[in-house]
Amino acid sequence: MISKDKYRDRILVQRAIQEVKDTVTQKWSIMEICGGQTHAFMQYGLTDLLPKEIELIHGPGCPVCVTSLELVDKAIAIASREDVIFTSYGDMLRVPGSDKNLFSVRASGGDVRVVYSSIEALKIARDNPGKQVVFFGIGFETTAPANAISVIKAKEQGIKNYSMLVSHVRVPPAMHVILSSPKNRVQGFLGAGHVCAVMGLKEYEPIAKKYNVPISVTGFEPLDLILGILQTVQMLENDQFQVKNAYPRVVKYEGNIQAKKIISEAFIECDRQWRGIGLIPMSGWKLRQEFQAFDAEIRFNVGHIQTRESEICISGLILQGQKKPFECPAFRTICTPQNPLGATMVSSEGACAAYYRYGKESHG
Ligand code: SF4
Repeated sequence: MISKDKYRDRILVQRAIQEVKDTVTQKWSIMEICGGQTHAFMQYGLTDLLPKEIELIHGPGCPVCVTSLELVDKAIAIASREDVIFTSYGDMLRVPGSDKNLFSVRASGGDVRVVYSSIEALKIARDNPGKQVVFFGIGFETTAPANAISVIKAKEQGIKNYSMLVSHVRVPPAMHVILSSPKNRVQGFLGAGHVCAVMGLKEYEPIAKKYNVPISVTGFEPLDLILGILQTVQMLENDQFQVKNAYPRVVKYEGNIQAKKIISEAFIECDRQWRGIGLIPMSGWKLRQEFQAFDAEIRFNVGHIQTRESEICISGLILQGQKKPFECPAFRTICTPQNPLGATMVSSEGACAAYYRYGKESHG
């Protein structure tokens, strides 16, 4: 097994950066899809080490940021009920809904609990048969297998007081939206390594071909990120519009076949609202007909809740790579991590939070 230290080795990273410098001959705009990668670039100071020809554009790959306001309001409505124990990843508690967040529901006496997985929520349901236990199932392809397992197990074990508020989103449809926009500036992509570890590379090939964009599937350590940039720049400089794997120690071409099978057992593709972006056709997963008894939207009859986004927040443009956080007039003034106006400031993976934390105030 190779030590993680290798992927943080300063000399190896510097060598890879030099290779990028030796390869690049013109300006290129590259989007890292994943919010975790956005943070890693800034945390390790890599954005300042890259040649000035490379502009990084931050993508929509933050599950907390893209969970629609409508679903946050539905979560708040369900969590406010006396018969409910509402369980969620911690980041979601601070996400602003239309007029409050899940923290304020808890402060007013709601039973809102932070969990680390849907399996933990299922255990809470087993331990509290007199309560309805709801899990806020957010996330990209990465968290979908575990969430699928929780409803499969609930059905198998006859756990009737468990349900899930499903907000799963899929990366490829969002890439189509970004690339087909007349305002698109993205010329190449770093694919999200953990998503591709589940789904594999195949569904990205038609995207690379249709829009003439190279895609390099990339990990999260400094060396992974720079090797992903290098691979993308090499393809851009050579007019190669392919999908390549810069993270082979984790990602296989076919992905994780067992995980994909579990996902399709419980979920089916559906249209999904993305916060700040809007409806993206077939960009989400919902529970299949045979698991609808575990669908919290149906169980608690919250399907009618509709909302409108804040007019100040430009997080939708940020999530599509059309604006940077410092271009928002509210950034650092009325919008801070302590008082977030939009989801990209709340989540630890959000671009606004990354710019705030690492002091990025301008281009360069
Ligand atoms: S700084 Fe705040 S208001 Fe502006 S885009 Fe980011 S989250 Fe929205």
